[in-house]
Amino acid sequence: MTQIEMLLKYQEEDAKLLKVEREVASSVERKNLAQAVNFVTKATERLDALDGKASSFGPLLEELRKKCDELVETLAEFENLDEMLEEGGDISFYKRNIAQITDSLKNLRQEVTALGKAVKESDEEFQTLYQKNRAMQKQGKEYQETYEKYKAEKRKESEGIKTELGRLAKDIDPEVIKRYQTKRSEHIFPVLCPVKNDRCTKCGYELSLVGKEKITSQGYVECENCHSILFSEKK
Ligand SMILES: [Zn+2]
Repeated sequence: MTQIEMLLKYQEEDAKLLKVEREVASSVERKNLAQAVNFVTKATERLDALDGKASSFGPLLEELRKKCDELVETLAEFENLDEMLEEGGDISFYKRNIAQITDSLKNLRQEVTALGKAVKESDEEFQTLYQKNRAMQKQGKEYQETYEKYKAEKRKESEGIKTELGRLAKDIDPEVIKRYQTKRSEHIFPVLCPVKNDRCTKCGYELSLVGKEKITSQGYVECENCHSILFSEKK
């Protein structure tokens, strides 16, 4: 058997391994786990953000309280309004002042209402998300276990194939195997493809003049387009 023929046998066996790898990668078990991990990651970030937001509510409330105290103090100045008027104070001036304070109080009440609403919404969102996140963490653990079990099952399958691959590799030049594995890791599969009518059977690209010469002289050449290793089948 030529090196190419042996490598083709190797590739045939390797295709089984690739199939197992792809099954694992696209399995429901893996997808479920990935989704749970994704949810928990995002939810944790959001919970942190809400926590930060909640800690800003205290200072905001303190600010509103201060404003309120100031208004109460200002109002206290009008306790002796009768006396102030008797002493010749300008009534329209006091009226304007009181109107201003009334406006400020109105605004303050709106601010307090808005803050209360924000606190309530933030707290509700936090509680709901916190519960969901806990449930998902628990679920995620189950998914993890299921996935590990599934992988262990698949590992048995792939170990068998790998043993066979090792056996086949013994007859092949290690440099060739190395080159093959590099291609394989670059997601080129099949690595080895036959040439038909001077064209790559994988992507249809035509061999260049140099390519044609090389495949005749050394028996193989790399496809300039898809980078598979092309060989000429014996007629
Ligand atoms: Zn090609």
